Amino acid sequence: MGKSFHVEFDVSDPSLRFYVCCICQNHVALTQDFSLNYTPATGVTGGVFDKVVNVHVNEAEQQRQLGLHTVADVYCNKCENLLGWKFIEVFEEDPVARKDMVMLQMGKLQERNGNQIEEAVEPITNTATGNRQ
Ligand SMILES: [Zn+2]
Repeated sequence: MGKSFHVEFDVSDPSLRFYVCCICQNHVALTQDFSLNYTPATGVTGGVFDKVVNVHVNEAEQQRQLGLHTVADVYCNKCENLLGWKFIEVFEEDPVARKDMVMLQMGKLQERNGNQIEEAVEPITNTATGNRQ
């Protein structure tokens, strides 16, 4: 996940809902790519996404511990706001975490719903899985 070309979701499609950076409105993930709601041992809740765009991570220099896992910080490409983490090494006893999984803090995101910008919330269908606390 290096710094790559900029992706814009189709804002003219009213059925397309997605998350944006709360500071600069950079497009970062589609609501449909939300995988599950996850709380590592530190108690920081975030959304795990199958795919994210317009973010970057410096795996070599920014690794640290999050609960039992080694993660690298994930930043917005546009404003460098810290949005979440990519899992580099996972504690194998954790049934949810897996290597290369990306978790974004919902509090750092907003949800774009047509022309509306709303507070980011987890899609209702997925909130039950993976939350161990
Ligand atoms: Zn941003």
